Amino acid sequence: AKASGRNRVQFFDPQMQAQVRAHMELEGALRVAVERSQFSLYYQPQVDDTGHITGAEVLLRWRHPVKGMISPARFIPLAEETGLIVPLGRWVLEAACTQLAAWAADPHLSQLSLSVNVSATQIRQDSFVSDVFRILDDTGADPRRLNLELTESSLVTEVESVIAKMAALKARGVGFSLDDFGTGYSSLAYLKRLPLDQLKIDQGFVRDILIDPNDAAIAKMTILLAGSLGISVVAEGVETEAQRQFLAEHGCHGYQGYLFGAPMPLEEFEHLFSTAFSH
Ligand code: C2E
Ligand code: CA
Ligand code: CA
Ligand code: CA
Repeated sequence: AKASGRNRVQFFDPQMQAQVRAHMELEGALRVAVERSQFSLYYQPQVDDTGHITGAEVLLRWRHPVKGMISPARFIPLAEETGLIVPLGRWVLEAACTQLAAWAADPHLSQLSLSVNVSATQIRQDSFVSDVFRILDDTGADPRRLNLELTESSLVTEVESVIAKMAALKARGVGFSLDDFGTGYSSLAYLKRLPLDQLKIDQGFVRDILIDPNDAAIAKMTILLAGSLGISVVAEGVETEAQRQFLAEHGCHGYQGYLFGAPMPLEEFEHLFSTAFSH
């Protein structure tokens, strides 16, 4: 074993071994969680200029029976690696569309739209479009209330095929946002070819928008770019009134962040929305 060099030695590093074991345990637990539906959705309000809630982004939560709440930042990458993101992502879409259909009967709630995160692995599935159509048919959700958030990583490879899928879904009224805009490898050249409805300014640019002139420049450019592409823009991670005001002064029209509400369970979201309506 000694002769086989550094890689081999590293593998037996007890710390690394512990990491590998933890990773495998998490993967096993994730498989069980998918089977046993230990997931739920949280809803984070999205608001317009006037502070009215226009909808929510749905964010996945995993309540592990022993370990408690596990952050999607930890398990989404693993779900992608193992392919579990495919059934999990389908479950998220089903749950979101079921909710949209349930709201449809209420005159106020029926105005809300839901944004669902779709990972690169998911949209690359051949069955992605037919899966979404089936879910829309099964639940009876209005496709015009459904918005899918793609990240730039979905658009790095197989761009033509992704564009074709977007076009098919858009033909039925489904909307598309480009999430975390500016953090990946988007080429401005193909941005104009993508049938997008919205750009989302990443929270990484919003955080220090009042302090860091580079972040401010990127946020302003994104707002202008969305305007010239004729699509909407949502700033995420808005935590303070000063950040909101700065963004508003530069032409932003949509906001999401702790200032308006953290991701919350359904009942809380509906309550927040109904109290906003009662005055
Ligand atoms: P994201 O799509 O960029 O979602 C926004 C993240 O920012 C959420 O983290 C949200 O809780 C957090 N956030 C919202 N407002 C604020 C704020 O004002 N300040 C700060 N500091 N953070 C804020 P969360 O829920 O932990 O999700 C992390 C990531 O996991 C998401 O980033 C998304 O990439 C992924 N994710 C979550 N749910 C799903 C899902 O159903 N499917 C897929 N494929 N990915 C998901
Ligand atoms: Ca998102
Ligand atoms: Ca985002
Ligand atoms: Ca992000």
